[in-house]
Amino acid sequence: MNDIDHDIAGQNVLVTGGAGFIGSHIADALVADNDVTVLDDLSSGDRANVPEGATLRVGDVTDDADRASAMADADVVFHEAAVVSVSHSVDAPVETNRTNADATLALLEDARREDARVVIASSAAVYGHPEYVPIPEDHPTEPTSPYGISKLTADQYVRLYAELYDLPTVALRYFNAYGPRQAGGDYSAVISTFVEQALAGDPITVNGDGGQTRDFVHVEDIVRANLRAATTDAVGEAYNVGTGDTVRIDELAELIRTAADSDSPIRNVDGRPGDIRHSRADTTAARERLGFEATVALGDGLPTVPGL
Ligand code: NAD
Repeated sequence: MNDIDHDIAGQNVLVTGGAGFIGSHIADALVADNDVTVLDDLSSGDRANVPEGATLRVGDVTDDADRASAMADADVVFHEAAVVSVSHSVDAPVETNRTNADATLALLEDARREDARVVIASSAAVYGHPEYVPIPEDHPTEPTSPYGISKLTADQYVRLYAELYDLPTVALRYFNAYGPRQAGGDYSAVISTFVEQALAGDPITVNGDGGQTRDFVHVEDIVRANLRAATTDAVGEAYNVGTGDTVRIDELAELIRTAADSDSPIRNVDGRPGDIRHSRADTTAARERLGFEATVALGDGLPTVPGL
């Protein structure tokens, strides 16, 4: 992962949320050639994820002093820090908005002062229930959670700051991320849940009929998209970051059971209310304008998930 090709060197790089899953991989890719600072409150991240050679500042992106001092002299900022749990956002919409939307806006203001380039982590959650797949960037946006609204707000400010203030900004709408250091626990994504169940020998629980489909994108590809976004001329836009391929959730359960060499039964349980049926990125704009295309197939990426 440290040897992903890029031409970003000699820069002051800030990675917010850089002790977390995706942010720490971005820091890994850049630390050899750049001065990398990580701003993270360690709420879900782990200081052990921060690569050697990067400076960890334990602080809160919603705190003006913490954020502004981490932003001092930054050339490029990768903004990953966020409330990441959709279900937590439903319980705590105000906190979610403060962290995901307000802090992004404040960070864009800091970037204006520092003349820094900004790449933010947006999400496929901005689309809500897709009306059709694959989903292009100009698909209607009707988020179904405070998380999705907060990400859409941040994503729109990113566009506006390029337009109004000529700030070089890009929003990356990640689809379902997976890979090394992916978090487990209560809010974990479906891959982590299936892996935990398979390793424990517990039933692998598929919500509903298992015919839902998702576009899983490996964190190595997400890092590549970020590195492209940090140098592209096609700024002021949001790009999907997915593979353009999908897997059914019941097939995923089967793949993970095999990869974990597990005897767990696969059990269908109640569907989750409001669950999205199909999600799949249209990758045309990312390919044509950003020069990014995912390279890691699910079969190759799954063995890098913790536990497999
Ligand atoms: P993560 O929880 O591993 O990383 C988030 C990091 O931000 C953590 O290290 C956490 O401690 C830190 N953080 C949270 N609130 C903070 C605050 N107020 N101040 C400072 N640090 C704070 O999650 P991740 O999966 O690596 O997500 C990274 C980004 O990608 C997030 O913005 C998330 O919304 C977005 N995203 C992730 C996925 C996915 O599938 N993982 C999909 C779409 C978008």
